[in-house]
Amino acid sequence: MSHRVLLVEDDRVLRSSLREALSIEGYDVRTAASLADARAQLQHEQPGSVIDLVLLDLGLPDGDGQSLLPELRAKRNIPVIVISAREAEGQKIRLLDDGADDYLVKPFGIGELLARMRVALRHRGRNSEPALLHYRHGPLEVELKTRSVRLGQVEVHLTPTEYALLARLVRHAGQVVTHRQLLADVWGAEYTEQTHYLRLYMGQLRAKLETNRTDPQHLMTEPGVGYRLAEPDAAD
Ligand code: CA
Repeated sequence: MSHRVLLVEDDRVLRSSLREALSIEGYDVRTAASLADARAQLQHEQPGSVIDLVLLDLGLPDGDGQSLLPELRAKRNIPVIVISAREAEGQKIRLLDDGADDYLVKPFGIGELLARMRVALRHRGRNSEPALLHYRHGPLEVELKTRSVRLGQVEVHLTPTEYALLARLVRHAGQVVTHRQLLADVWGAEYTEQTHYLRLYMGQLRAKLETNRTDPQHLMTEPGVGYRLAEPDAAD
């Protein structure tokens, strides 16, 4: 069954080119050119034709796309990828903390968009697989059930905090996780401003897991926003 995507974008040219590219990839694409239009489409979903994912522009003629995020969350946790020309780190952080699954700055390549869509659908979509318990990317393997971390055949020993940080990223592999989210989940809500903890522990994790700490292959930095664990290799 193909995934149904609601593309909320007021730029006519971008809307039709994205619709075409996504249709070729097998997505069933609905479009909306305004907030009102998007709300109407979401309200009139029929059983058997529900929307699996929303691609959300921010600058829309009748308001800011961001205002749709709480409604989408409240409705039924529909995954949302924001597509916007706005590049400000502060804005990205707010959107992610508000519940957007990911953020792509225009212009972006269709390959990048498709990869982010796959990840968002896997994590949150209605037809998603169960949460990722086993992560593999190149030589790195993490087994959440047994708390085992291996590089090739070698077991890697992590401290409890290093492991908690890695496990949090594994559960959202391929998605950016903000500093605030990581600090709240690993250290606790009162630590959300302590970004130096993150820098320290991420440095330790990279020292143990990356061949070259200055060119990480697994633990990627999203400057000013957070971290992203590389998308897992496709299962054999
Ligand atoms: Ca726009």
